Amino acid sequence: MQVAASEADQWNSLLSGESDAELLRQLEQRLTGDSSCESGSQWRAIVESISDGICAADSEGRIVQANPAFAALVAVASSDMLMGRSVCDEIVAAAPGDSEQLIERVSRGMTAFVCELRRGAELADGVLRVACVPLQGTADSDGSSVWQIRDVTHQKLAEEARNQFVFTATHELRTPLCNLKAYAETLALQDGIDVDQQKEFCNIINSEATRLARFVDELLNISQMEGGGLSVTKHQTDVERMLKEVLDHVRPQFDKKSQTLEYSLPAKMPKLSVDKDKIAGTLINLLGNACKYTPEDGTIRFTAEVEPGSLAMHVEDSGYGISSEELPRVFDKFFRSSDQQVRDVEGTGLGLAFAKEVARLHGGSLTAQSEVGRGSRFTLTLPLEVQND
Ligand code: ADP
Repeated sequence: MQVAASEADQWNSLLSGESDAELLRQLEQRLTGDSSCESGSQWRAIVESISDGICAADSEGRIVQANPAFAALVAVASSDMLMGRSVCDEIVAAAPGDSEQLIERVSRGMTAFVCELRRGAELADGVLRVACVPLQGTADSDGSSVWQIRDVTHQKLAEEARNQFVFTATHELRTPLCNLKAYAETLALQDGIDVDQQKEFCNIINSEATRLARFVDELLNISQMEGGGLSVTKHQTDVERMLKEVLDHVRPQFDKKSQTLEYSLPAKMPKLSVDKDKIAGTLINLLGNACKYTPEDGTIRFTAEVEPGSLAMHVEDSGYGISSEELPRVFDKFFRSSDQQVRDVEGTGLGLAFAKEVARLHGGSLTAQSEVGRGSRFTLTLPLEVQND
């Protein structure tokens, strides 16, 4: 549908809050289908097709007009069903979280306001931004109002991810940098440090520098992934050998926490065509997480099994586990559990996002099952048919 430029401008200015009395008068006429208004049907078509929910309410706050998007956003089958119902009640029923602010604003009388309401306990359940503009300054306005609701869930999740990134980046850069500075200064300025202590300080400097480098590598991986530039270079790989190398690599971490690492591999391991470094990195990440998020003396089990058409590798731990609310988000970048036991452990929330993408690029999958207090099980599945690439 072709929209006249001036009308589109007026509509945009209304939605961005720069409305004036004349514009509101026109909208009221157009929402109520005043036939004297030229191009009224075109306006009606715009309001009907727009993805924001728009409704007009009378002085009692009862809905007199609503577009289909409004009905969809408040989960009512059709806009006709909304006629005469309280606009405030409908919005609160759809998004009860933080609704006190809306109820309070409405009870104060009709003034322009914007507020955000949550559909559930988590941001991911949904967030609605509600804007209300009273129809003042028009002869026949009598306390009526225009309401706009917009689903801002994606925007809120992006904001949360950005805040989480700033928090993680600050923490992951600052902690090792402070340690590097402190130990390097001590070595440079303090006399009489014996050789064993010097060695210990150098080891700490080395491990902090490794931590910094790992974080920078993870950021680079993620930015490559976001830019669509991540690729895998597959070669026929001796999987048994790769797995033994992976297990040897992680064993010292488990020993340090007196954890038991059990594993079981199939008698005959198939040959796979994979990007060995990236698959090994993914398994090291899964086993590293199992170690980090399991208390001392816990048990971690690694199992590989040949299934029809695929090789499934399971990393199972007896650790803190992940709640059912958080489980769907563990593969989101920068996601870290709100559980304090997890927060106390060093991490960036980037490993699983990258690992999932690596699995996908191989035509495989990475999934998680978990129960709080009992442990988690991550399964990396790779297709077998790629072996003859
Ligand atoms: P990191 O471990 O560096 O925080 P990951 O992307 O590897 O980042 O993991 C994301 C989040 O998923 C972790 O912070 C943690 O909350 C949760 N998680 C991952 N693996 C486990 C596990 N084995 N047990 C419990 N929680 C886990």
